[in-house]
Amino acid sequence: MTPTKWLASHLKEWYGDYAPLFEPGGWCWCISNPEAQRVLREMIAELHENFGTPPFFHIGCDEAFGAQSCPACARVPFGDLALKHFAGLAEFVRSRGARAMMWHDMLLDKSDPRWKDFVKFGNETTAAILDLLPKDIVICDWQYSYGNMKESRKNWPTMGYFKEKGFTVAGCPWMNYNAMKLMADHLVANGCFGFIETTWHHLLGKDWELMYMSSAHAAWGSPVSHGVSFQRSLRLVGTDMKVDNYLEAISITRSPLAGGRTRRSQCEVMRL
Ligand SMILES: [Zn+2]
Repeated sequence: MTPTKWLASHLKEWYGDYAPLFEPGGWCWCISNPEAQRVLREMIAELHENFGTPPFFHIGCDEAFGAQSCPACARVPFGDLALKHFAGLAEFVRSRGARAMMWHDMLLDKSDPRWKDFVKFGNETTAAILDLLPKDIVICDWQYSYGNMKESRKNWPTMGYFKEKGFTVAGCPWMNYNAMKLMADHLVANGCFGFIETTWHHLLGKDWELMYMSSAHAAWGSPVSHGVSFQRSLRLVGTDMKVDNYLEAISITRSPLAGGRTRRSQCEVMRL
């Protein structure tokens, strides 16, 4: 099981006495603040310990809208600030014997025409730091087929781009069911690390069942089907991977594929 914590953004409740740790808009950490950096490392250590010191820790760092908006952060070029933050967190995770995983979007320049139909929220400055980031970071490239959740795309050039830059890459769909198997095939064909299904807050009604089942089939190389009962799919997980703790199997594991290759399957990144 891999713990994750949003260590750049997605903050909504941190106010009052803690306000100085965050940018004025309250969405991002004030990453130039040494106290904020201390707290972040304390949280990583505590979570990593509580999860049994697993080999990976996801540091989030997506959608950092409104970063560098306080006077202290504004004095530093944002590329320098972001690089120090991402690389520093990865180094801390490494010091605990694990590898950092992070979302990809701030590392792609949104004005770059190559990424026109793909998720990207960075700029020229944040995209440039890619060459300087530690290569042991696992880039989690989340591509949700925005605007067309039924698309059948077969190629995700962003994943190849990160791979060419020397990173380990995981592809991450959401509820874009038609693209799941195609994305898994693309990841295998390009020698990527694996497949992470994101479920987020859509764990209501049938959504969670469809997400788990579809992504599991995609990750394990079998045709995506919604016509199979969830229990049967879950039992196949146990048989395939020789585990009888199904909850553990869902969380994170490897499964063999034809030809001895493996795909990493993680049906849900734990969100805390
Ligand atoms: Zn700041």
